[in-house]
Amino acid sequence: MNDIALQRSLTARFIETEAQYGAKNYKPLDVVLTRGEGTYVWDVDGNRYLDCLSAYSAVNQGHCHPKILAAMMEQAGKLTLTSRAFRNDQLAPFYEELCALTNSHKVLPMNSGAEAVETALKVARKWGYEVKGVPEGQAEIIVASDNFHGRTVAIVGFSSDPQSRGGFGPFAPGFKMVPFGDADALEDAIGPNTVAFLVEPIQGEAGVIIPPAGYLKRARELCTKHNVILILDEIQTGLGRTGRLLAEEHEGVEADLTLIGKALSGGFYPVSAVLSNSEVMSVLHPGEHGSTFGGNPLACAVARAALKVLTEEGMIENAARVGERLKAGLAAVATPRVKEVRGRGLMIAVELHADAGGARRVCEALQGRGLLAKETHDHTIRIAPPLILTDAQADWIVDQFAASLP
Ligand SMILES: *Cc1c(COP(=O)(O)O)cnc(C)c1O
Repeated sequence: MNDIALQRSLTARFIETEAQYGAKNYKPLDVVLTRGEGTYVWDVDGNRYLDCLSAYSAVNQGHCHPKILAAMMEQAGKLTLTSRAFRNDQLAPFYEELCALTNSHKVLPMNSGAEAVETALKVARKWGYEVKGVPEGQAEIIVASDNFHGRTVAIVGFSSDPQSRGGFGPFAPGFKMVPFGDADALEDAIGPNTVAFLVEPIQGEAGVIIPPAGYLKRARELCTKHNVILILDEIQTGLGRTGRLLAEEHEGVEADLTLIGKALSGGFYPVSAVLSNSEVMSVLHPGEHGSTFGGNPLACAVARAALKVLTEEGMIENAARVGERLKAGLAAVATPRVKEVRGRGLMIAVELHADAGGARRVCEALQGRGLLAKETHDHTIRIAPPLILTDAQADWIVDQFAASLP
């Protein structure tokens, strides 16, 4: 067997072993990655790909960023976990730097995005009972259709996606759904027991759905008027992805609770946080919420470095500039079978018409040309490369789409 044949059989064996032992809750592309650097990843056959998913925007800073790596290595050799029963010397500077950067007053650190969402739901409900005066057990939270906020039972219970929620009930009560992008529907839905409105500034998993201009601003006004907490889930849109630190900045709004995760660690470690710009967070007292790993020194050190390189290395401005170039380039090569090219910053989608043969086929063609992207739902290809993408790489992506679109 020559080297190439041997390598091929290695890829196949990884895939077979996964299939044999693993739960089949994902359907990944058949590529087995072994190394990443900047915008590129390599598979076990030695093929190089430009990563246009960035682990669902967790790797905004690029793969294995050397400065985040150095911070992680240094902290890993010093102290990794204390639990919050004791204090650690990374937590305070993490709080301070994150609050300064995001103009927040309070931080509650967690690990996964779903945990940050759950935390916000708990805080909002408690605020509703203790501050707003909602009768016990009656708090209501409004969510948007086609939302994606994670995979816990409470969260999938207010999903409108049958795949996400089917078979997992019974679900927690107290949630009400309104169409995404429809501020009038939000106003109609707000009642005396409404404590919060939870929404993504741009819906990522739904296929990069950008709401009508002014929607977030109206939502902010309605929440203020009716004494309702605005919770923005910026776990995917945040930390530079849309060309601003937070996507809320595009409409000049400030949420009461902002959720970040994913790129908060540059992909090194699960780190999420609930940011608060009001007194909402003060409803939590010792013992009422927590996490063994939340706020651990390794996570804090990694997140500090991840935020530092994001701003110091101009990644947010780069996302805005290169994102415009990439979007324009994609629009220029769109075929009649493309329904729409849309996006903000480096959060871009190419949506095909329903009769164009599906997005999966395009992703497989792109894979063959050295570009990794993932379809969202059946007809949309999301393009979300690391924010360090160069002009030349953006133009190269456009060329690969030109060659792969139906
Ligand atoms: C990914 C994501 C989550 C969930 O994050 P996990 O770390 O996977 O739990 C929540 N909200 C949005 C908008 C996301 O994109």
